[in-house]
Amino acid sequence: MASITLENIVKTYPDGFTAVKGVDLDIADGEFVILVGPSGCGKSTILRMIVGLEDITDGELRIGDAVVNDKAPRDRDLAMVFQNYALYPHLSVYENIAFPLRLQRGQFSEDEIDRKVRRAAGLLELNEHLDRKPANLSGGQRQRVAMGRAIVREAQAFLFDEPLSNLDAKLRGQMRTEIARLQRSLGTTTVYVTHDQTEAMTLGDRVAVLRRGELQQVASPRGLYDQPVNLFVAGFIGSPPMNFVPGEVSGDTLSLPMVDVPIDEHLRRAIGDRDLVIVGIRPDAFAESDTGGQREVRFDADVDVTEWMGEVLYAYVPFQTHEAVKDQLDELDRELDGEGMRTQMVIALDALSSVREGDVA
Ligand code: ATP
Repeated sequence: MASITLENIVKTYPDGFTAVKGVDLDIADGEFVILVGPSGCGKSTILRMIVGLEDITDGELRIGDAVVNDKAPRDRDLAMVFQNYALYPHLSVYENIAFPLRLQRGQFSEDEIDRKVRRAAGLLELNEHLDRKPANLSGGQRQRVAMGRAIVREAQAFLFDEPLSNLDAKLRGQMRTEIARLQRSLGTTTVYVTHDQTEAMTLGDRVAVLRRGELQQVASPRGLYDQPVNLFVAGFIGSPPMNFVPGEVSGDTLSLPMVDVPIDEHLRRAIGDRDLVIVGIRPDAFAESDTGGQREVRFDADVDVTEWMGEVLYAYVPFQTHEAVKDQLDELDRELDGEGMRTQMVIALDALSSVREGDVA
């Protein structure tokens, strides 16, 4: 196993488009790192450069201590799992998993191959299906066969490119847990590309958020959630997304559309000497007023719509945004595939809350 280091990595495609603009990333030995970001931000390009399927225009890529920019993919000793599985339809599950070992002609005896295949199949609970052909497997089982092929190679690192995107929601959830368990038990360095932020937040030790070919922030899931470095990361991470409301500063008061908030030291540091700011408030930062905490600010909210989701109730509260920040927030909305959320707040309440549509809460 090995660390993977990207130093000022740039990718310009032959048509002149620069998809990756100087990315620095240190992935430690055994670490599970997620690359996440909207469509077209360069995630797959980075993964393909690491595995060697795409030339690196500039910068240095190291696996362990070795610079591998010019090494052929087969000499990098990495195992990649694709979203379309890339299984051989005419081979059995057993032979599909054994395939990478047989490729290295003569290096492994039949006994060794058998042992490795059965061990991987055991880890993935595929032992009962070893004689089947891929066509006779479910999507999740096919995905596991693809992972089995990566495991038998005992490669230095696993690279996953949106491995679960072809599965339905329930199976995706199950496979997510399996991948996490497998990675923890094998301890193999893993880089995983997804645009699904649930996968990003639940799987990785650290998450790297990309936007338009540039790295925005690399942090633990918790770190991204609690301390996003900019509006983009704040808006991208979290579901439902963070509310962005305009805040006008006058003296020691911050006026939000629904309430005036006293500016304490903490807020003052964040605001600096600006007189108009965008305030990010997570949906789960709200509570019904009789359950509020110490630093509470009370206000009346006109609830427009509610959605009951089982364990949580979302209440939507419209507000008037400020003209001066509207364009900026609209653009962010488009980039994040938002649904025009910037003129209403979403408030997450206890599922047992009695708040209903038309209430003032
Ligand atoms: P997605 O989630 O949609 O797969 P991504 O973040 O993985 O997106 P990439 O596939 O890395 O994005 O592509 C990054 C950018 O580079 C995109 O704008 C894409 O159109 C562009 N791109 C990809 N391949 C080429 C190519 N061969 N020639 C020119 N541009 C390309």
